[in-house]
Amino acid sequence: MVTAAEAIKVMKEGGKPVIGCLPLYPPLELIHSMGLAPVVLWGLRDSVSHTGDADAHIQKYVCSIARHLAQFVMAEGGDSLDGILSYNACDTLRNLPEILREGLAAKGALTPTPMFRLHVPMTSAAVNGGFLRGELLDLIAALEERYGVRFSEESFAASVALYRRARGLSLRLEEAARAGSLSIGAFCGTLARAGFLTVEDQVELFEAELASLRPAAASGPSCAVILSGVMAPLPQVCRLLDGAGLRLVANDIASLRRSYAQEPFAFHDVADYYARFYRDHFPCTTLLHSADRRLDAVSRLARDNGARGLIFIGEKFCEYEYFELPHLVARLQDEGIPSLALEFSLDDDSNLETYRTRIEAFAEMLRSSGEKTSESAGGGKSGA
Ligand code: SF4
Repeated sequence: MVTAAEAIKVMKEGGKPVIGCLPLYPPLELIHSMGLAPVVLWGLRDSVSHTGDADAHIQKYVCSIARHLAQFVMAEGGDSLDGILSYNACDTLRNLPEILREGLAAKGALTPTPMFRLHVPMTSAAVNGGFLRGELLDLIAALEERYGVRFSEESFAASVALYRRARGLSLRLEEAARAGSLSIGAFCGTLARAGFLTVEDQVELFEAELASLRPAAASGPSCAVILSGVMAPLPQVCRLLDGAGLRLVANDIASLRRSYAQEPFAFHDVADYYARFYRDHFPCTTLLHSADRRLDAVSRLARDNGARGLIFIGEKFCEYEYFELPHLVARLQDEGIPSLALEFSLDDDSNLETYRTRIEAFAEMLRSSGEKTSESAGGGKSGA
């Protein structure tokens, strides 16, 4: 396994300045079109050995994503980054750039890492208005000045086409998982690896993966599940899900489907592209203007793909996801889709086997209710 730090070093060898971005939906196409290499700083759990440096700056009741990210930037990979771009999302991330700056300074970084900010409006009306255009123009000017690069709408359109290709291939991998040709572990592993590659290498990886797929294994519909949450399950958890015979037919994971499911197809210019991008984004708890659409969207995703159960991959201390969870569970319960909520924190890394029984019991429950349904549909064999 290549760590994020190693992958970013390889990216840097390509000669382009590497811009670490947070959180999940930054303007990647824009950065790429200006001859820079954007990388989303997410899923860094396996790339840091501890969180000691981060813990000196961030309280322990903050999600592990932010603590791993801070540790990575401050101590275990940040020196490979030529800049950091952040946009506003949850309360945890709101002041993280300042914390990172102070943390880097405290560690004795010789030259401060350039920090860029984009303020994404959180109401539909504001996304459509001129504010976002102003933010984007400011960002473009700052990047041009710092790296001596130039923005052009032609290069931007070419980058949009490249990212569209990568997102389309991600959706095809998702279809392969749905058809049973890719295990949950293989699907999540490929997408996790892609996260620390250039978009060109992502396309190559996805195409190679799709070309090597075997015909779908025969598998019944009763263990078809939808996953939800901010982060994809860890490899060890994927093994438990696969081992229980579960099949991923849909996902509402922020680092997966919420990141690649929707993008504008027609646009006038860069500002119009991102107005549509954020306004019509697959609903996410961190994009506040989209949150009201989430229950309908997740319910439709589950129903349309034949999910029999929902498994929530909870990130401890993530208020955004946990405030919504009871409503999501109730909505799907009303539609006959039971839920299993799992919670992961930084301290659970060495204790993941404890989830085995809960996952296996949930799979067993789905299987037996699937059998009852098919028995009653067929006239009922036992009358039980
Ligand atoms: S997991 Fe939740 S709290 Fe943590 S960074 Fe993401 S949205 Fe914020």
